Amino acid sequence: MTTNRRFLLVRRPHGTPVREDFSLSQSDIPVPAPGEFVVRNHFCSLDPAQRGWMDDAPSYMPPIALGDPVRATTVGLVHSSATPDFQPGDWVMGLNALEDYSLNLAGGFTMKIDVSQAESPSKFLSAMGAVGLTAYFGLLEVARPQPGDVLLVSGAAGAVGSAVGQIGKIAGCRVIGIAGGAEKCRRLIEDYGFDVAIDYKGKSTSQLAAEIREVAPQGASIVFENVGGEVMDAELMNLAKKARIVLCGLISEYNSPEKIGIRNLWQVLAQQATLYGFLIMDFAPRFAEAGAVMAQWMAEGKLRVDEDVQEGLENSYAAFMRLFSGANTGKLVLKIA
Ligand code: NDP
Repeated sequence: MTTNRRFLLVRRPHGTPVREDFSLSQSDIPVPAPGEFVVRNHFCSLDPAQRGWMDDAPSYMPPIALGDPVRATTVGLVHSSATPDFQPGDWVMGLNALEDYSLNLAGGFTMKIDVSQAESPSKFLSAMGAVGLTAYFGLLEVARPQPGDVLLVSGAAGAVGSAVGQIGKIAGCRVIGIAGGAEKCRRLIEDYGFDVAIDYKGKSTSQLAAEIREVAPQGASIVFENVGGEVMDAELMNLAKKARIVLCGLISEYNSPEKIGIRNLWQVLAQQATLYGFLIMDFAPRFAEAGAVMAQWMAEGKLRVDEDVQEGLENSYAAFMRLFSGANTGKLVLKIA
């Protein structure tokens, strides 16, 4: 390969992204200056968070500039280097972009990874990467589960949710998952070992709230929130006293030009619950330690992490949209080399 293909954001999406918001460009492969190195990206993470980075709104990271490639966590091989810290052939993980080659500065976020620990380097974007570790730290360090806790997880069949539920079982919780459709609910029970699965599709907030109440009459002592909107409103009507709510994501709102908001927030005070805003990057210094635990659980058969691997940088748009149609079956990853 002699050129660098890049999947650019060329227009800010209004609501649901459309193809015309992006374009595929070709440029020269970058050449590293002293202190820099170039990574050939092999796997790119496709994450709901990328949708937020496309908006020009205050957030925990600056918006992607128009004309820049879409920011993405990637795993790849060092291609060329002008720093002794990274050598061609080193496997690395870093915050790069949807592009074949990314220029990196030594001392930045990009880190070397030991791919011999994993069956595929892509595992550093799922189980042993930020997404798996979101489940690990969000549940174990933020919610701090105890045996007997009732854990309610939304977006339960997805990458974060399925791991949260399984880690909840390891911690001794009774785990209730909410996901879209009968097949995802079957997988929650049979593949991920949840105690109860509830399909939210086609149900009103009050119907969903009643279904949760039936299986958790004393309420949920932990809510791990990935979805927001009506699903969260139904969960809020089922809080146990002093419940802990981990606010991890609100995917149902990411494509809404007008944010819908949460109507039953009053339940947080009625039940004296605590709502924690949580960002995985706070735990980045502990990734290696937690990744090793996740690898151990997988080896022992206690944790199953599925990946939905799509192929081709040119398919970035269609692949990304799987997150919002619910088509992804596990951590969504784009293989580009
Ligand atoms: P998933 O693998 O869970 O994929 C997204 C899933 O969300 C879809 O499969 C779909 O499942 C569900 N979904 C999509 N649109 C809607 C909607 N309108 N209403 C309800 N459900 C919807 O993605 P991830 O595991 O990567 O991410 C899950 C959540 O975790 C996201 O909110 C993300 O932003 C958040 N996150 C937060 C982090 C943090 O640091 N706070 C870090 C990483 C992720 P279904 O078919 O069941 O509807």
